[in-house]
Amino acid sequence: MKILADYSVTELQEMLNLPKFRVKQVFDAIMQAKDYNQTTIPKKMYEELQQEYILKPVEIFEIYKSSDGTKKYLLKLWDNNIIECVFLTQNYGNTICMSTQVGCRMGCKFCASTTGGLIRNLSAGEMLSCIATVSADNGKCNERNFTNIVLMGSGEPFDNYDNVVKFLRLITNEQGFNVSERNISLSTCGLVTKIYDFMKEELNVTLCVSLHASTDEVRKTIMPIANAYTIKEIVDALRVYSATTKRRVVLEYCLIKDVNDSFEDCKRLSELFKGITCHFNVICLNPNGGSLKATTKKEAYAFVAKLESLGLSASLRRSQGSDINGACGQLRAKRLKEIEE
Ligand code: SAH
Repeated sequence: MKILADYSVTELQEMLNLPKFRVKQVFDAIMQAKDYNQTTIPKKMYEELQQEYILKPVEIFEIYKSSDGTKKYLLKLWDNNIIECVFLTQNYGNTICMSTQVGCRMGCKFCASTTGGLIRNLSAGEMLSCIATVSADNGKCNERNFTNIVLMGSGEPFDNYDNVVKFLRLITNEQGFNVSERNISLSTCGLVTKIYDFMKEELNVTLCVSLHASTDEVRKTIMPIANAYTIKEIVDALRVYSATTKRRVVLEYCLIKDVNDSFEDCKRLSELFKGITCHFNVICLNPNGGSLKATTKKEAYAFVAKLESLGLSASLRRSQGSDINGACGQLRAKRLKEIEE
């Protein structure tokens, strides 16, 4: 079976061998997250299409609403896999936080997405359909109701590199959602060789790297990827990336009590990132019930102030939707466990 959302309009035209206006109907259905029977395509025609092509690979399984307006979606894929997607309302425009894989194999100690490992990659069209589904559920028909997309849900985008790049090209296509590249952020745990590859794609998206430590020793204890790449290699790649793309890079830094939250860490970070156009997005750990504990809000503010006093740009990110298991993969992990039981 082929997923129609994996193709651009031009590709659909070549592949489907249908009149232009029919292809347009198919394409509009993809964008509005509709299934065959919700379109004006004649029954006989869509029954034929259905044999070979999936039009709606994603449907809403459950929605959780937070008191702060955040909506967390559990989405069911055509093969019954479940993934998460979050709709965040903000005064500067709504943001959709999306997953790039079912599960994840990066094994970060603090992250719930990785429990259960990687099940499979999402295709470009599946990612696009997640966006279409959540957008349609929050807006008027034919109108997109979000400004920003962050690839910060479950999965490691650079572990699904080709599909993610294809998705970015589809979602920014003028004939599609036409999302501005500048309004997209991609977060990676730091697959250095892929950072260099990504630079060559000339996609103007904001690159975020989950750093979470100022020394390789500490990073290795919480992020297995640190055994493959050193912090120095990440810093070097980001220096080139920001100089080449003229884009500010973002470092994500999740504060874990007594692990990575000392002023010594601030000093090392300021040395490492001297001269690189970057911003530190600091967040307090959202505990998963393991041994790792969160740094207090007060200490977190002091950490951010220290980074700033050392010349780095930094801010404490407020955590939205924590009352609905808002952190990465928490809701999926919890519901899968419940469904199993
Ligand atoms: N694989 C990518 C993107 C997914 S995670 C990456 O590693 O960047 C998005 C961000 O949420 C990452 O910075 C990740 O480290 C962070 N995160 C995951 N679990 C968290 C938790 N329990 N508390 C705080 N941040 C968390």
